[in-house]
Formats: sequence, structure tokens, C-alpha cells
Amino acid sequence: MALRKIREIGDEVLTKRCKEVTEVTPRVKDLIGDMLETMYEADGVGLAAPQVGVLKRIVVIDVTGEDPYILINPRILESSGEQTGKEGCLSVPGKCGVVTRPNYVKVAAQDAALNPIVVEGEELLARALCHELEHLDGHLYVEKVEGALMDAQADEEE
Ligand code: ZN
Repeated sequence: MALRKIREIGDEVLTKRCKEVTEVTPRVKDLIGDMLETMYEADGVGLAAPQVGVLKRIVVIDVTGEDPYILINPRILESSGEQTGKEGCLSVPGKCGVVTRPNYVKVAAQDAALNPIVVEGEELLARALCHELEHLDGHLYVEKVEGALMDAQADEEE
């Protein structure tokens, strides 16, 4: 595994729609391993493939630091409720902003072996799921910030 360079806002790759993954090749396996390593190294709670320059529908999320989700081709099935809070992004370093998200989401995806899985999340996990899935369609949270971007601490970045 290796660390990959995290692309930052202004990089065109962050604005593109990512492609479905139909096969877990050795390259895709390496990518997933590298994404996990890169996320942990950066103290993030989530990372999407376009953030390391790869236009594939893959995200990794770990809100506890010990139990990562690997989600391939994820899509939101259900969402409900509302939460408003600070959010950050490893691709927008040093900044955070207030974003309103659903408080609960249910996501269908495939795991690293392309088996179908369903992940349900509330609060921070729901926020991370929404945030990371939007990366796969070329969107950044800054488009949704209420008010101005603020200076953030590293532990708030996703
Ligand atoms: Zn992000």
C-alpha cells in the first residue's frame, strides 16, 4: 500500500462524474488499500476515489477509526431527518463550513468483493455517507455551505 496525493479544490478531477466499477482488478484492490491508508494518514473520516485522482465510484469511510466501510457503486436508498453542523473535506484543507444533511441515510453498495451490502447511518456516519457520495458526482460540500467557510481543525476534515 502507498499514500496517494490528495487532490484539492480547483483540480478538475473533483468536478467529474465517476464511473461504475464492474470488476475488482488488482489495480482496484491496490486503490482501495491506498485510499484507506491515505485517509488514516490524513486523519480523515472518509475519502472518495476522485480525491486521489481516480474517477471510479469507490468511497472509504471510517467514523470510529477502527471499522472502515468500503463502498463500491454506492447509492442512497432512503434518507430522513435533518442535522446541521460543521463539515470539512480533505480536498479543502484547513477549512470547514456549516452544512445541513439528513440525520439518517440508508445506502446500497457493493463491498470489496462486489457483494451487495446495505449500510445505515445516523449523525456523523450519515453526514460522511452523503458527503463522500457527492464526490462521486463531482460535488464538494462547499457548494452547500450556509454562510462562510471557516478555519478548521484537522480532526473535522472528511
Ligand atoms: Zn470530501
